[in-house]
Amino acid sequence: MVGLNLDTPERALAIGAHPDDIEFGCGATLAKWAAAGCEIHHLVCTDGSKGSWDPDEDVAQLVATRQAEQRKAAAVLGGRSDVVFLGWPDGELEAGLRQRWEVAYWIRVTRPDVVLGHDPWKRYRIHPDHRAAGFLATDGIVAARDPHFFPEQKAEPHRPRALLLWEADEVDHVEDAAGFEDVKLEALLAHRSQFRSTMRIDDPEASEEVGAFRARLHTRLVEFGALGGVALGEGFKLVERL
Ligand SMILES: [Zn+2]
Repeated sequence: MVGLNLDTPERALAIGAHPDDIEFGCGATLAKWAAAGCEIHHLVCTDGSKGSWDPDEDVAQLVATRQAEQRKAAAVLGGRSDVVFLGWPDGELEAGLRQRWEVAYWIRVTRPDVVLGHDPWKRYRIHPDHRAAGFLATDGIVAARDPHFFPEQKAEPHRPRALLLWEADEVDHVEDAAGFEDVKLEALLAHRSQFRSTMRIDDPEASEEVGAFRARLHTRLVEFGALGGVALGEGFKLVERL
């Protein structure tokens, strides 16, 4: 059974490992909710400093560029608050207590009805940051909701009502993405530094490369949409017992 569409939350927090993960995972859903008045928050766990194939890349400049790109992408999706960057080194993210402390803090501060993140139980996905960021979302929720976790934070405990995991091992929920395909693409294209390594776009002026990326994105939206009985969708595992 695949469910379709949560009620629009008042506030949502998306937790990604790297700049651009959130846009890939749930960009259309966030844009749809923002258009309906939802307050959207982005939290990015790592600094994105491995996101280049150029061995001579100026890494400090790359980090700054990727933060600027992420802010732009968040604004394209309709986010009005600043992006939270935890700044852990790309590729070395751990789901440890220090990181959990930070994620729980931001859940308590932003008070989302819905949290969105990577599925940490996705089989055969080897990138450690995606796995760790997924566990930080789930473990962060457990810590944020219970008052005896991290009482020094002086922030009220908070229990979200739903967790949506993208890149899910078992998709059981679809958000209708109709009308928000273009804005998802636009948000992804804000990540210009990732054109070569992630989006397979060598020359942004080459419309056929951008067109091929758009077509791959479209195919994914159609596949997920079919699961939910709609034309276009984003697929998730929904966890409601939080
Ligand atoms: Zn990533």
